[in-house]
Amino acid sequence: MEISIASGKGGTGKTTIATNLAVAIAKMGKKVSYLDCDVEEPNGSIFLKPKITEKFDVTVLIPRVIHDKCNLCGECSAACEYNAIAVLGKTVEVFDSLCHSCGGCLDVCPEDAIEEIPRTIGTISHGDGMGVKFYEGRLNVGEAISPPITKELRKLVNKSNVTIIDAPPGTSCPVIEAINGTNFVILVTEPTPFGLNDLKLAVGMMREIDLPFGVVINRSDIGDNRTDEYCHDEKIDILMKIPFDRKIAEAYSQGDMMLDVDSKYEKSLYELYQNIANRALS
Ligand code: SF4
Ligand code: SF4
Repeated sequence: MEISIASGKGGTGKTTIATNLAVAIAKMGKKVSYLDCDVEEPNGSIFLKPKITEKFDVTVLIPRVIHDKCNLCGECSAACEYNAIAVLGKTVEVFDSLCHSCGGCLDVCPEDAIEEIPRTIGTISHGDGMGVKFYEGRLNVGEAISPPITKELRKLVNKSNVTIIDAPPGTSCPVIEAINGTNFVILVTEPTPFGLNDLKLAVGMMREIDLPFGVVINRSDIGDNRTDEYCHDEKIDILMKIPFDRKIAEAYSQGDMMLDVDSKYEKSLYELYQNIANRALS
């Protein structure tokens, strides 16, 4: 079973929930994988402290123009939706960081003047931490296109394990690449006006891609009750509320687990998992 943890914005406690949920399930005797798909800023390793046993590059194919064959017709540039290739004077330039590796320019080139070369955009690391199989995608600094890393990361999932996917924040393509096809999505939010606004965007995304989801309200006693009211009106289940706890904040700042603060969190996170598993099986 695959459970994604997402949020409409960063800083809601998404990774805290994802890492602690993974460990809580593992402590109950299940085999668990944790995938850090927040590839622009992966920080699950801070909490799971994995021993990395394998690391490899993720590459994509990008076009290179064979200038001897090119007649500067501009067909490649016209076909590129991402403005990643352009005729500039008497040459054709490829802007690597904008290229989505779609192969469109190769298809339209009348002179067969484009070849593809591999380009490294990031890495995937794998190891074990706190009883959990750990996988992390990391986009190289300066790179803009993260979905290929997420796609490779998700191929590594062991289908017999419970897999926790720590998605990037927001509602853009990288989030959808991370959560699409998973059995259930937990949207982590906090009860503030900004939190509610971003939750609404995330709910819109979920309804678009039509996946089952529920909400966890973190620091549930810091704001007002408009998030509760919104979820009630929209018939969205609030799966768990975690009141503000200074000890959790201190543990977070030191890279420690919420589970170590108080054993009640282990119990409540495992109940959260059981609740989701029952929904997924029904
Ligand atoms: S489509 Fe081919 S021939 Fe035309 S400008 Fe691009 S690379 Fe050159
Ligand atoms: S591979 Fe696709 S995105 Fe990249 S330059 Fe060619 S058409 Fe543009």
